[in-house]
Amino acid sequence: MKDVLDLELQMFLRNLLPEEHEVLQEMRSYAEEHHIPVVDPEVGHLLHILTGLVQPERILEIGTAIGCSTIAMAQAMEQGRITTIELTEERHTLALDYFKRAGVADKIDAVLGDARELVPELKQEYDMIFMDAAKGQYQEFLDIADRILKPGGLLVADNVLINGWVVNLNYPRHRQKTMVYRMKAFLEQFKENTQYQCSVVPLGDGVALIRKQKQRVDEHKQAD
Ligand code: SAH
Ligand code: MG
Repeated sequence: MKDVLDLELQMFLRNLLPEEHEVLQEMRSYAEEHHIPVVDPEVGHLLHILTGLVQPERILEIGTAIGCSTIAMAQAMEQGRITTIELTEERHTLALDYFKRAGVADKIDAVLGDARELVPELKQEYDMIFMDAAKGQYQEFLDIADRILKPGGLLVADNVLINGWVVNLNYPRHRQKTMVYRMKAFLEQFKENTQYQCSVVPLGDGVALIRKQKQRVDEHKQAD
């Protein structure tokens, strides 16, 4: 995050982390070389801790890429499974291989396809959802994921500050405008959304921790 969290602080936080699994390190080099936007190490670590705390029976991930975030979560799961969806065949195939090499393949169901088509067909409920795909579609993803997120469940959304542009609106290209304004509206809705509570953590590219209320709240009453 260049504009919001300064580089010195980001590097300081990164240097506090334990060393990642060697397969993850290799994946990061690959991702950098091929311009694949994977979670920053400090966000991967946060995901790992959250997964360890929640101990979900089922996690849904929207946007596998080559599987860095999937592995960070899988390594913290004592039992339970992750369903992860990726649109691009090349990335999906690479992820399958990395899951084997990291020793977590038996916990992961990797699905190739468009989450906008696949999520509405899912039959089970999930304790945790990690949303990390097209940044202009977070509202759409939330709308379709709501049905399968358990009450009290956690939805984590990555890249919600988009290089700080959501904060300062200094996006460099006109074509980024829609994505930035959609993300801003996505975050702002939680001020008044009684079904969810949201805390934005300015780590990495910005991570939103969004918890679904345990009980459906009547629109006119105050959430507890
Ligand atoms: N979670 C990964 C990074 C994901 S990058 C990690 O941190 O390691 C975002 C990915 O979402 C890209 O690989 C992109 O192909 C995928 N994606 C975008 N739109 C999608 C959709 N509608 N359904 C499934 N995957 C999608
Ligand atoms: Mg991301």
